[in-house]
Amino acid sequence: MKCLICHAASNTVHATEDWSEVTCSAGCGRFRVSANLIKKMKSRNEFFDIERTRQWLKMSRNDEPVPLISTYDYNVALLHRDTEQRPVIAPSRSRQPLTSE
Ligand SMILES: [Zn+2]
Repeated sequence: MKCLICHAASNTVHATEDWSEVTCSAGCGRFRVSANLIKKMKSRNEFFDIERTRQWLKMSRNDEPVPLISTYDYNVALLHRDTEQRPVIAPSRSRQPLTSE
């Protein structure tokens, strides 16, 4: 099996319904990735930004020896690799009237 972050051959992959655990000797170390996120990345053909994700793991290991990368972390910590097309910010904000009548 391959490391989900850097795609090097990884030593151990332990998969459950909720997450996959990888031990990568190429520099990523031991971590878990949520099954939802793996599915999402596959469907969108996205990849981890190796440097950013390794940094994030390093920080997270202060609290958790085997950090779990969830979809939330992936989005919030911007762990995805920059693509050529920048995401367009959707006008999702609801319009608020400037003046109240
Ligand atoms: Zn790796």
